[in-house]
Amino acid sequence: MKRYFTTATVLVLWLAIFFCCGCGSGEEDRNWSGKEDGGEIVACQYVDTAMGTVIRQTIYASEQSAEAFSQEVMALLTDLESKKLSWRLESSEVYRINASAGKEEGCVLTEEMAQLLQSCVDLYERTEGAFDVTLGPVSRLWDIDRWAAEGGEDFQPPSPEDIREAVSLCGSDRLRLEGEESARIFLPEGMQLDLGAVGKGVALSRLCELLEDQTEITGAVISLGGSILTWGSKPDGSVWKVGIVNPFDTSSNIGILSLEGQWCVSTSGDYERYVEADGVRYHHILDPATGRPAVGSVRGVSVLSRDGLVSDGLSTACFILGPEKGMALAAEYGVEVLFVMDDGEIIMSDGMEKYATVQTGH
Ligand code: ADP
Ligand code: MG
Repeated sequence: MKRYFTTATVLVLWLAIFFCCGCGSGEEDRNWSGKEDGGEIVACQYVDTAMGTVIRQTIYASEQSAEAFSQEVMALLTDLESKKLSWRLESSEVYRINASAGKEEGCVLTEEMAQLLQSCVDLYERTEGAFDVTLGPVSRLWDIDRWAAEGGEDFQPPSPEDIREAVSLCGSDRLRLEGEESARIFLPEGMQLDLGAVGKGVALSRLCELLEDQTEITGAVISLGGSILTWGSKPDGSVWKVGIVNPFDTSSNIGILSLEGQWCVSTSGDYERYVEADGVRYHHILDPATGRPAVGSVRGVSVLSRDGLVSDGLSTACFILGPEKGMALAAEYGVEVLFVMDDGEIIMSDGMEKYATVQTGH
């Protein structure tokens, strides 16, 4: 199904729930706003940073419970990054795996990592290699995250020879994963994992477990950059409103998803992290076939799933695959998807229509 919108008529909130709760803060320091309570359920909001992105939490609980829970959330995210996912921090499992590249004995994996990597390899196979968790040599060569954070001055794209060399070190089909209990990975020499495309999704699933295990919180919306978790309900029974960023004006939304209960929404776009040089935009979603930022007519993709790993992984994969193959992939995984194309067209799966309200007319 196809829809059109005009960039002039856009919704002004990145996450409508923030509006509903009366929070106007865009500050990056830890920050609380909510009503004074007497133990009754109120909406409490917190803004922090972790995993290289802004973390926004809206927690429905008594003020005291919300504050305690929000700190648990931050501890979980910091831990996940430093102990599991970071390729930069020596304390992480991914760092340990990368350091084992080329070693005959491989590297012992935690059960969680073994399952995560198996899911990533499945996604590699189902996307014919468009999603590749072994893209480390290529993503490090481009280093877009760092350039984007530093403003991108003096950025030069890598040479074709360097790109070819880095691409030759990638390919999830060359990973060897063995055993279920006490699993091991054998990473060939020179290969490096990069879990950037699924890290925030993994975090959403962990946060969901944290929420399931407690009794004090009645509802929450937690956003980790482009990946958002909704959970539980609001005291007034109204639905969660999750904004989809307008790639043509990232201070506004092109649509809103209305959701009930637990969902994961992940968005990948060429506007999230990029640098520009000589009029060309170099963004952080890389096409493993070329070793360069993916080129196509997609500006942004949002995936709606019950599962964080699926929503995050598929949003990256669908960006590279484009709407035709991306829609088929989403159907295989039983999830909903919405594409924003470079001419402003919005293409979404039939099931997404139930949740999405977008601007129409041109
Ligand atoms: P974000 O990290 O902003 O949420 P994505 O979920 O789309 O965005 O993931 C982008 C990150 O994934 C990149 O920064 C890089 O680390 C990694 N990546 C880029 N291209 C691919 C790809 N084709 N397959 C797997 N991982 C990728
Ligand atoms: Mg992703």
